[in-house]
Order: sequence, then structure tokens, then C-alpha cells
Amino acid sequence: MKTPCPHPTKSRYATLEAANKAAHRVTHQAGLPLRPYECPCSWWHLTKTPAPAALPAASDATLADIQRLASLPDIDFRNIVAADARGEGKPGDRGALRAPQILTRWKRCLGQLHKDLNDQFQENRGNPSLLAEDWRKRATSYRETLALRLSESRRLKAEAHAEMVRNQEYKKHDAEVAAAAGATVQELRAHAGEVAKERLINAHQAEFRRYLADAYADLGISLPARIRRRIAESASEVLTEGQAS
Ligand SMILES: [Zn+2]
Repeated sequence: MKTPCPHPTKSRYATLEAANKAAHRVTHQAGLPLRPYECPCSWWHLTKTPAPAALPAASDATLADIQRLASLPDIDFRNIVAADARGEGKPGDRGALRAPQILTRWKRCLGQLHKDLNDQFQENRGNPSLLAEDWRKRATSYRETLALRLSESRRLKAEAHAEMVRNQEYKKHDAEVAAAAGATVQELRAHAGEVAKERLINAHQAEFRRYLADAYADLGISLPARIRRRIAESASEVLTEGQAS
């Protein structure tokens, strides 16, 4: 599965961070603007060619895109994966491949495409014809792209996993806090909402009573005496303030 490096003489860096640091240093010292790029050999190198267009992201896909891809037959799914590797396809499809629900299937399909291509290389190995030579040239760059997509899918899977672990930790922590308070998390959340609402009402009492009066009027029922009194009070407060000045 390891792809040989097309540029074995280049300096290699294990992480994007390390490559970024090196790029920064070289750019500074030699005045040569370099940027890191991920190589199919799984290391990072530096290059002076400008960055290619940004990769699609899961946020490019709607829930409908994700559900459609999840239910696609393998052959159609494979076509979308291959198109994406060539930099083609609808943004929704390409984004959906990177959604946590689809990542595993995408990664498995990429692995299959990569393996199939390697098998074809094996079959083609001894073939000296120009046609075979031409095929090898095109297939080599496609194989490199597949290797890149594979490492992208692995990275996204690791990120999705870390996010899931984080959410589980939050959940566990919240459950502990709630248990200590003798309540459920649901109850604490509802309580937080009540507290915030209370503060909002207190900060804007006159406005709240106006909305309340509107809502009563819309429903066609009469205001309770207590609220009617408060509205009259604030109206007269406004009046006396006006007279005092
Ligand atoms: Zn390389």
C-alpha cells in the first residue's frame, strides 16, 4: 500500500506543523516563498508552486446529500469516489464523502481503487508497448492522487474519532454534575433556560408586559388584574416623571 516518493531527494517532514515551521524559516532566510504540501509517500515536502484549490469539506454537503450517498449501490458510490479523486464531481457529493457517516465507506472504497490500480500495474509490468507506457504514466499520477485521498480520509477519520471522544467526555462530565445536583442533564438545561428567561424579563419588564398584553389580545382573553395594574402603574410612572421635569 506504500506509495514510493516521486521526489525522494526533497526534505521530508512528518507533520504539517513541522513543514510549516521549515517553510517559514526558508521563506525568511532565503526570501523564497515556500509552502508545505502532502506527498503521496505520506510525508510533507515544501514547494514553490502556488496552492491548488481547497479540498471539499463535509460542510459542502446537505443532510440529503449524505443520505443519498449512504444508500447508493457500490458501483455508483465508486464512480463518485473516483471522480472526486480526479478533482471532479458535484460539491454536495464530494462534501458528503467527507461526512463522518460516510468516511468509513469512502476510505474502504479508496483502498479498493488503490489496490485494483496496483494489480493493473503488476499485469502491465513487463509490457514494453507505447500504449502500456502511456497508461503507466497516467496511472502513476492517479495512484498518487488516490494515496493522497487515502491519507486525507484517515486524517478525517482520526479527527471525527477525537470529536466523538470529546463529546462523550462532555456527556460524562455533565451527567456527573447533574447527579451531584440530584437532577438530570435535561432538567439542568431546562433550568438554565428558565434562569436566562427570567433575567431577560427582569431587564425588559415594561416591554415584556406589552408583549404579554398583545398575546392576550391576540387570543381574545382579558388580562389578569395584576398585570393590568402593573401596566397602569408603569404608564403613570412615565406620566409623573414627565410632570416632574
Ligand atoms: Zn514524497
